[in-house]
Amino acid sequence: MEGFIIKIRKEPTELKMLKLLNSRTSLSAKDKNNYHYLEKGFDGEKKFDAVIGNSSDCLLIIPDLLFEYQNTTFQIDSLVIAKEEIYLFEIKNNERDHYFKDDNWYLLSGKEIKNPLLQLKRSESLLRRLLQSLGFQLPIKAYLVFVNPHFFLYQAPMKAPIIFHPQLKHFIDDLKATSLKITDGHVNIAKKLLSHHIEETTFHYIPEYTFEQLKKGITCVKCASLMKALSLQSLACEKCGIKEDTETAILRSIDEFQLLFPDRKITTTGIHEWCEIIHSKKMIRRILFENYTLQGYGRSAHYVRKNKNTQ
Ligand SMILES: [Zn+2]
Repeated sequence: MEGFIIKIRKEPTELKMLKLLNSRTSLSAKDKNNYHYLEKGFDGEKKFDAVIGNSSDCLLIIPDLLFEYQNTTFQIDSLVIAKEEIYLFEIKNNERDHYFKDDNWYLLSGKEIKNPLLQLKRSESLLRRLLQSLGFQLPIKAYLVFVNPHFFLYQAPMKAPIIFHPQLKHFIDDLKATSLKITDGHVNIAKKLLSHHIEETTFHYIPEYTFEQLKKGITCVKCASLMKALSLQSLACEKCGIKEDTETAILRSIDEFQLLFPDRKITTTGIHEWCEIIHSKKMIRRILFENYTLQGYGRSAHYVRKNKNTQ
């Protein structure tokens, strides 16, 4: 079997943007809630990944897929190809007590929440149709997975496709134990699915912001707090203690600048202002010159990312 790299789970772009905005401006209570909601979801997915592992010789695990099929987008938190089946996992990091009544979900307070089983059914149906259109007829087993040990569902229907935190490890162990070696057929399905994966481009939770309005400086790679310069060569985060080489931090800041301002040109002056704590404009110019391509002349001169293939 040829080598095959399965995509890794990345921090969702929207979460990354909110994290940066949270450090550089004061988010409204609603935006903060959205930020924590996305962060919690991502933490839940990472918890699931830790249990299932990244690779196994009997399971093909593909995290975080986004498809568009017949004008409908749907997302799959984790998809596993095993034996003659495909597993679809919808991962939830909810906590606290909930209850189930007449096909509806409620918080203990009586407030009704979106029934996640309906969302699961929808994704399952769309995935089945997508697979059929690609020529695959494998059965799909879809599960809702609650990864948080502090979640409880009263009156949970016994036959519902739900895996609760205490059951998860067993479930995965059984799945691994009953699976056979990955075949070229499995890899083929994975490749086909991955070729249909799309990147998220619509963000629902990002508030409006301008360059002028955001705090300038360099954010910490770990906790996103604004860092302090230790010397010409290194920076430190006072909050989490991380130290970073200045050049690496500047390159990361340029990426963040591009993420937050995709339409703004990258110039030495702009990046110098963005990074703020780097006093030497010369250093910014050198880093840009070495890592980016200069385009245009005079006032319209700006940098663009080097094409990785020709680097
Ligand atoms: Zn930090």
